[in-house]
Parts: sequence; C-alpha cells; structure tokens
Amino acid sequence: MEKAYDYIVADYAGNKVKVNGEEYKVGACCVDLLNSFNGPEEEKEFEELSRRIYGYSTELEADAIPQESLDALGADIISLLRQVKTVHPFTAFATDVQLAAINGAFSAGSVIGFRRLYNECCVISASTGMTPYDILRENRPDLDANLFFNMAANSHRLYENLTVLYGELYQDFMYSKRKIGALADRFGALPKADAEHMMPIAFETLPKVATQTKTQFVKAEFSGRNKSQLANRLYFSRYIDFIFYDFYHGLGFGHYPRKCEICGKYYLKTDSRPQRYCSGLSGIEGRNHRVLTCRAVGKRRGEKERAANDPILIVYKRVYDSIRKDKSRGKISAETEAFAKQAAEDCRDKAIQSTAYANGAYVTDMNKKRFYAAAPSSGFGSA
Ligand SMILES: [Zn+2]
Repeated sequence: MEKAYDYIVADYAGNKVKVNGEEYKVGACCVDLLNSFNGPEEEKEFEELSRRIYGYSTELEADAIPQESLDALGADIISLLRQVKTVHPFTAFATDVQLAAINGAFSAGSVIGFRRLYNECCVISASTGMTPYDILRENRPDLDANLFFNMAANSHRLYENLTVLYGELYQDFMYSKRKIGALADRFGALPKADAEHMMPIAFETLPKVATQTKTQFVKAEFSGRNKSQLANRLYFSRYIDFIFYDFYHGLGFGHYPRKCEICGKYYLKTDSRPQRYCSGLSGIEGRNHRVLTCRAVGKRRGEKERAANDPILIVYKRVYDSIRKDKSRGKISAETEAFAKQAAEDCRDKAIQSTAYANGAYVTDMNKKRFYAAAPSSGFGSA
C-alpha cells in the first residue's frame, strides 16, 4: 500500500521544497494555483468531480461502501488528478505510475473483504475481551495476521484521506486562489515590496496558521551544490494547509506571485528588481513572425513610454510631424522634406549627446522654417 497518498508530504530546506520527488522554489506552487484552469468549463468539470468524490465519504465512514463504488471512486480520483496534472505539486501525483497505483488500490476486491473481516474481529473483541489480532489468528489461520491488519487498517485510512483530500480540493482551490490572488494584486500596487509593507497585508488577508498533522527532520536530496540537506518534513492532510504554508514560507524568502502586465498570467517574483513582466511567450508576433516574450514586449512599450515623456523627443516629434504635414499639403517638395527631416534628426541626436545644447540652442535650432531655408532646392517649394 502506497503510504505517500495519505498526505501531501513536503520537505522544506532553505528556499526549496520537495514533494513526491519533485523540487520547486518555495512559493512556486501558489503561482500554479493562480494560473490553473483555462476557462469556466474546465472549472465546472473539476467542481463536479470533486463533489462526487466527497460524496463517497459517508459510505466510507459507515463502512458500507460496495466494490462498484470503490471502483468509481478510484476512477474519479484519477480523472481529477488528470485535470490538475500541470499544477504543482499535483504534477507529482498525476504521473502514470502513481495513477496506476491508485487504480490498483481501489480495484482490489480483496480489500473490501479484508475490511469486513477486520470489523468482525473488532466486534467480537469488544464482547470477549480478546484482541482482534488473536481472534483472527484463531479463526483464520490461513491468513497472515500481520499483513492483514496492516492492509485493513491502512487501506481504510488511505481511502478516507484520499476522499477528503480530493473531495475538498475544488473548494480548497477556489478559496486559496481568491485569497492569494487578491493578495498578489495588492502586493503589485505597493510602493515598495519589502517585509514591512507586505507582512501586514498578508496577515490581514490570509489565515495565519497552517495546520500540519506532524513534522520531522529528515535528510533530503536537493539539486545544486549542497545535495544532501537537513530538511523539515511536513505532512499536510489538506491542500489548502499546504498552499498557505508554502505561500508564507515563500514570502520569507522574498518569493511571491506577481501578475504579468503583458499576458495576464502570474509568475514567481524572486527578487526586488522592479520587473513587471514574466519570461514566458506573449502571443504577440514581432519581426519574422517570431512570438515575442513578455519581457521583450515590455521593453518596447517602455521605450515608447520614455519617448512620450522625453522633452527632447517631444520637441523633435512636433517638428517632424509638421514637416510631414507640409509635404502632404504640397507646401514643400519631397527633396525639401527629406532634407528637413535629416536636419531635425541631426539636431535631436546632438541634443541627446549634449545636455548643454539640449538646454540651450536646441529649441531655437529645431525649427522647420530654418531647415526649409537651408534646403538646396530653395525653401518653400512650389506653394
Ligand atoms: Zn507574461
């Protein structure tokens, strides 16, 4: 029986966390949560699956679950995991091997029989004072009592935990998504992204304490220079406990989700640089039909914004546009236009290179009439 399904088991060491063999930066799982689901249809399907899984918990509690329900429960959990297979840490739970193990655990008909037998032993034990273990040994010498009790006890716990974990997953997703999303947006609007500004908002928005069932220190293997590290292993019985813990832990290292201003998706901010875009693809095509990254699009927009605010460029643009207009109205010839534009560009470049010139003669020099007069084809053309 695969015990790893009982909980989300997370090994924390420094700014990294490992879940089921997959390693992430702390806080990265929150970003995946915020980017989860493409549209309301996927969300609806997820909600239905999650509800149905939760529905089995009453049958499980009453110990009256027939094998058909157990088969259906296993199939629903597998479908649910397939839906979140791109969301960390569920990526580690939705591998083919893990899904096959779930399938096996739920479709093994013998488990139900074992469970019944186990209950019968417990009932006899209550009336006779004998231990369930001794009762089983006496009545069923054909069974390996140790193995049997392990399976009966663990399988039931496994089913219960999985049913609660995945049955509450939709609500957990939606609640934590709303909370962490709202917080990320408030962080994005802060004048300074440091602990002093962020902590009060975090405590105001998110539940302060994440509940873990237990914790222990373990030796865990991580990537990078220090492979073996002392890690704090935490066991989470619910996704929501894990995700809030991961959020706070990430915040302690300056990691937090931020919305990309170009593509609208969230990404993990890991430093204090004033960067507003993710490194993913923007969907916007540049030259040669190559799709630009959000950073590249952001850089171009930044250049345009600077042009709109730079006094040198404002003066240049006004004169340049006026020259173009004069040509289209037939006031100047094409030759005069070309000459004047070149002269305006030269003036602009000189101003960019010399602050003294920019603050001095630049504004008087940048004059279209002066350029027209200096043009070889005699000034104002035919008009
Ligand atoms: Zn982006």
